[in-house]
Amino acid sequence: MMMPVLFLSHGAPTLPLDEGETGAAWRKLGAQLPRPSAILVISAHWESHIATLSRAVQPDTIHDFSGFPEELYRMQYPAPGAPQMAEVAAELLQQSCIAVQLDDTHGLDHGAWVPLSIMFPQADIPVAQLSLQPQRDPAWHVAVGRALSPLREQGVLIVGSGAITHNLRAVFQHPQGDPAPVWVTEFRDWIAARIREGDLDALCAYRAHAPHAVQNHPTDEHLLPLFVAMGAASKLEDAHHLNPVMTFGLLAMDAWLFNGTS
Ligand code: ZN
Repeated sequence: MMMPVLFLSHGAPTLPLDEGETGAAWRKLGAQLPRPSAILVISAHWESHIATLSRAVQPDTIHDFSGFPEELYRMQYPAPGAPQMAEVAAELLQQSCIAVQLDDTHGLDHGAWVPLSIMFPQADIPVAQLSLQPQRDPAWHVAVGRALSPLREQGVLIVGSGAITHNLRAVFQHPQGDPAPVWVTEFRDWIAARIREGDLDALCAYRAHAPHAVQNHPTDEHLLPLFVAMGAASKLEDAHHLNPVMTFGLLAMDAWLFNGTS
């Protein structure tokens, strides 16, 4: 069956310790989705110059953060790797003239294992990751997603994992309990409106056209996974907007399920 495509905002690494509304939404989504044959995660936390696919047979859980509670560093997500799917994905990218390399040792970063540990807690679905190219623009990441879309016919769940808004400096200055600033909500609403219109061109030019774009994304690695997901989707207009909640006052935790039925 044709799998839907998911983008989610992964939030802070501490989410497994305090799941809240977001954890409940992810858990429900994991239970509702058709069971994937494998999962390909495009996380904001893996960047490389050339598109790189992880081909590890048993990926390590990477604790790529510092200063958090000890308990988080003991967490493991022992899902098997998906080396064969990674090789198919690499072939698809090559067929679209996208240079690609395979990495036999890269594990799962927290943009991958944190949401997967809640969505698929049994850790029994094979997982591989694909890196981002932050030197490239959104349109290029759309092309990556488009090249990968045939994987959906093989039951692969493509997951873009980043953040709809991601100004961490502002998080620390935001008074606790205050509502989200207008510069955050206007940006989030603009993204949602363009997805509903299916206006991929406008989305690709978000840095020039969206309100407060640079303020919400001083660097754009946390939004680029959305473009891979949108590229892998056949259309945007029927997307399901999930979990429009804020954490830390201004980190939007929105998820988008493209071409899904739930
Ligand atoms: Zn992140």
